Amino acid sequence: MRADHLPFSMHSMMAGVRRGLLTTALLAIIASAAVSEGDDFQQQLELAAKLNLTAPWQESQAILDRIEPELEEATPDQFATFQLLKIRNLALMGDYIEGLQLTRQLLEHDIPSEHRLGALVRGTNLGLELRRFEEAFDYLYQSLVLASEVNDPEQITYAYSLAAEIFRVVGKVDRAREYAQRSLDFAREHDDVRAQCIATMHLAAAYRAADHFARAGDHFRSALQLCRQASDPVFVGIAEFGLGDILRRKDRFDEAEAHLDRALRNHRSSGYRSGESETLLSLAKLYRRTGREQQADSTLTGLIDDFAETERWDFLATSHELLGRIASDRGDHVLAVEHALSQIDAMDRFLDLARARQLAYLEIEFETLYRDQELSLLRERQRVSRLQEQTRVQRRWLHGMAYASGGFLTVILVLLLMHARRERRHYQRLSGLDSLTGLSNHTRFFESAQRLVNEAHTNQTDLVLILGDLDHFKEVNDIHGHLIGDQALRQVAGVLMDVFANRGLIGRIGGEEFAVCLSRESLERVQQLLETLRRRLRAVDYGVEGRALTMSLGIAQLQPGENLGKLRQRADVALYEAKRAGRNTVVVAPENSPKGGKVRGS
Ligand code: GH3
Ligand code: MG
Ligand code: MG
Repeated sequence: MRADHLPFSMHSMMAGVRRGLLTTALLAIIASAAVSEGDDFQQQLELAAKLNLTAPWQESQAILDRIEPELEEATPDQFATFQLLKIRNLALMGDYIEGLQLTRQLLEHDIPSEHRLGALVRGTNLGLELRRFEEAFDYLYQSLVLASEVNDPEQITYAYSLAAEIFRVVGKVDRAREYAQRSLDFAREHDDVRAQCIATMHLAAAYRAADHFARAGDHFRSALQLCRQASDPVFVGIAEFGLGDILRRKDRFDEAEAHLDRALRNHRSSGYRSGESETLLSLAKLYRRTGREQQADSTLTGLIDDFAETERWDFLATSHELLGRIASDRGDHVLAVEHALSQIDAMDRFLDLARARQLAYLEIEFETLYRDQELSLLRERQRVSRLQEQTRVQRRWLHGMAYASGGFLTVILVLLLMHARRERRHYQRLSGLDSLTGLSNHTRFFESAQRLVNEAHTNQTDLVLILGDLDHFKEVNDIHGHLIGDQALRQVAGVLMDVFANRGLIGRIGGEEFAVCLSRESLERVQQLLETLRRRLRAVDYGVEGRALTMSLGIAQLQPGENLGKLRQRADVALYEAKRAGRNTVVVAPENSPKGGKVRGS
């Protein structure tokens, strides 16, 4: 049965029913039509939910698109079910940003707790995929708290599984294993095969992260069986990948390739994009190990853009590393060096994220502490009120005493709580900052820039993005050492703050790369400011007699309808042109062409 045939036959059946009723009574028609339409929506929704777990996402999405106009009349329960299915489909088609947006909106509604938990779990997952760790941790925390209140074994298992994943990602493999095991125990207790498939997979991944490849392999094998039993194509694909990847690491190439090929087919037919690219990366490694350099090369080349676009810097670094080795084996040393540089760049970005991740982890630990403190405050208050109860039957002076001590305790605890709140804000702020200069780091900068770009489009105001890279900075390190280099970078940050602080957003987006985003400033004004910047940089005294600091700068002005990615790309090309034109130069990107630009001032 093709899913998309069903609604048409149902509609025609309903039309027949209505015609028959018309001959009896008008009221009866209205009543029964209302009931059957409601039923129809519910049936369609259930069908979509079923297909969502068993068929490519396009099939359930087609149903959702069709019934969306009736969503306004849906019950809160139906509304949440609908949105959760839509979010899962967005995730599968790789549109994580839209998925996360919808999750946030859904969480603003007053929805039943099981669905709230579902949304929190999805939010955690999407946050992880997008490397928005602070948000992921926040949702995880809320879902663990809610999981203990809600009685839905499936969602509880997922919350534990995600906790396992998140702890694995921050490198706490023991805690990851603990949570995965708890998730699995829970799924077994409730005899839920799909939840068992997912939990087992996380257990396997936790063992893999701890380098226990044999046990990881065993668990992936059993996950594969469970996922097949649950007949969820996405998870079957993920389990096939997990097993194939482990076998590849153990040099069992033939078996590995069979599993990876199956994983690839699975991911392609279920339309799960990021699963597909991860599988291809593993296959490329396998091709290289089995002497198929050409195949490895073309597979990796095809992946580069995808990883950069989805900001999976660790995968991007690995791809460049392998491409560099292939080029070097072939004797193409220029290309090998190019890949090595790109690898370093990707690695830098990844480390930036790793730091953000650690801080976010600190934050959640802190949050837990903070909660404990709140609970103790509550306990103290109860104790005080019990005391007050007793004093009522006691002498008057005791009454006064209890009040005084209760008040004193409350004051102390409130102070503690305020301190905890301040610390938490401090951590939150820290996780978006570059530790050397105190400027926004790469992640925070582009997240904030995204907001400015949206505002500029909404209000139709000017916006300019500036990318700057210090010239020959390696020499400063080579001649004077890294400490002096660090000192110079801090001073450059200081100059940028002086020149731009009240006007826009400033970030250190790479080693000696900086970015500034200015809204409501014209291009001409920005160029004047850049002249000031260049003058101030030349005058920087970084503690030793050395070459004057100069910077190459690329600037681009936001065009109507242009997204941040395109804007950044244009500024990047302009920066490259500035380097090529001899450095210490500002180049303005032309309006829409990706190459070339006018050289202004040098
Ligand atoms: P170009 O004009 O082509 O940009 O030359 P460059 O030497 O600046 O560029 P390259 O990208 O080859 O080198 C950048 C150097 O920046 C490499 C590294 O020594 C230095 N660097 C990056 N991050 C830091 C840092 O955090 N501290 C210090 N001291 N140096 C850094
Ligand atoms: Mg550089
Ligand atoms: Mg440089």
